[in-house]
Amino acid sequence: MSVVAIDGPAGAGKSTVARAVADQLGWDYVDTGAMYRALALAALQRGIDPQDEAALALLAAAVRIEPVGDRILLDGADISARIRDEEVTAAVSAVSAHPEVRAVMAKRQQELARSRDVVMEGRDIGTTIAP
Ligand code: C5P
Repeated sequence: MSVVAIDGPAGAGKSTVARAVADQLGWDYVDTGAMYRALALAALQRGIDPQDEAALALLAAAVRIEPVGDRILLDGADISARIRDEEVTAAVSAVSAHPEVRAVMAKRQQELARSRDVVMEGRDIGTTIAP
């Protein structure tokens, strides 16, 4: 299976390009930012502190985060709209900063890229996830 990696800083237009490329190729689009947002939402729902690296890493390994095209599921529930909430946006950068959390998410993203052809978007895809 193949992966097209689209990296870049916030506001660079990654999502727009990634969606368009996925459309053209007929491949799946994976928004890794949405995956981190899903984890941040899961933490908020359970009252887990965004600074608690160990608890967040355990949580990341325990929940099922499934990007499905433009939607994202958390343990089977469609949370696509909720991950854009202000409280999620406020928490996600702290949640995603922990190396143990990133390791779990990287593994999941690599599994996704192995299982199907994807256009994957995020700041570390071409450097770390699928070099
Ligand atoms: O792109 P978006 O704003 O939805 O990403 C949410 C947050 O997830 C980013 O601000 C960043 O903290 C984190 N993120 C990350 N690594 C990625 C994608 C997103 O750390 N590959």
